[in-house]
Amino acid sequence: VSKQAVTVIGLGPMGQAMVTAFLENGHPVTVWNRTASKADELVAKGAVLAPSIEDALKANELVVLSLTDYDAMYAILEPATAALEGRVLINLSSDTPEKARAAFEWAAGHGAKHVTGGVQVPPPLIGKEGSSTYYSGPREVFDTYKETLEVLTAADYRGEDPGLAAMYYQAQMIIFWTSMLSFYQALALGKANGVSAKELLPYASNMMTMMPHFLELYTQHVDNAEYPGDVDRLAMGAASVDHILHTSEDAGVDTTLLKAVQDIFQRGMGKGFEANSFSSLIEVLKKPSA
Ligand code: NDP
Repeated sequence: VSKQAVTVIGLGPMGQAMVTAFLENGHPVTVWNRTASKADELVAKGAVLAPSIEDALKANELVVLSLTDYDAMYAILEPATAALEGRVLINLSSDTPEKARAAFEWAAGHGAKHVTGGVQVPPPLIGKEGSSTYYSGPREVFDTYKETLEVLTAADYRGEDPGLAAMYYQAQMIIFWTSMLSFYQALALGKANGVSAKELLPYASNMMTMMPHFLELYTQHVDNAEYPGDVDRLAMGAASVDHILHTSEDAGVDTTLLKAVQDIFQRGMGKGFEANSFSSLIEVLKKPSA
């Protein structure tokens, strides 16, 4: 059985890894990139470089996009919309859920289908066991191409709403960026006290390995909108946050992040949650109608 042919547009580190994975699995691949020279190694491996974006689109029904963001997609595809009719765009470029929803409508307006993707792993893990990508959009389109997409990573379909894959991706990135900043904040305190990052590392890792327990406990609070205050009280948390802020101030460390944390705790206290669990802070953070 011949393997599904695919066009890949965008040959940054991610697009190159994807083309390589497709080729290694026997899929015919047509490529296009603004900077054509990035296709050289892939052509040597068997990819076909399309001479124009129109040719790249016409070559295959299945078109994978791996671009910096959705603006890059419009920059590339707007001049070639006539060639979009009948295409299936699997957009693996990161951006916001709103941009993904708009792109779905935009593609439909040009006779193309659009499936949103959010790749969870860096390029070296493409084609490797244990990596995963969020997908959302029309189920039957996803199902048709699932097997081919699984050449890249496992495929985690999140639902029909084109924004969902981007939402899951961004939710995960919120956790990543803010957690990593908390790590740097702790390292800055260590440095101010003559303790190296390496010395703090095992203790930081230990704290992180305890996190899944807390996530699970507080998930129940949040989904039930009940914050019993049986194990921890917001007032206790607020005092602790004052301590980490003052510890950092005393050490001469930047306190921007900790002041923001203190502000959120104080707003929870202001809402009268002092005897509730600190999971009640979701009431400060969430959209009022959600
Ligand atoms: P890059 O930013 O390196 O990809 C750039 C690609 O977008 C290149 O093909 C570039 O073309 C093209 N591009 C950017 N702007 C324009 C424009 N205005 N017009 C035409 N082409 C443009 O990203 P990666 O390859 O690293 O990643 C691709 C996507 O995958 C991103 O959305 C990223 O968030 C996501 N991702 C990346 C991960 C990673 O670790 N790298 C991990 C998970 C997701 P040119 O070569 O000509 O500059």
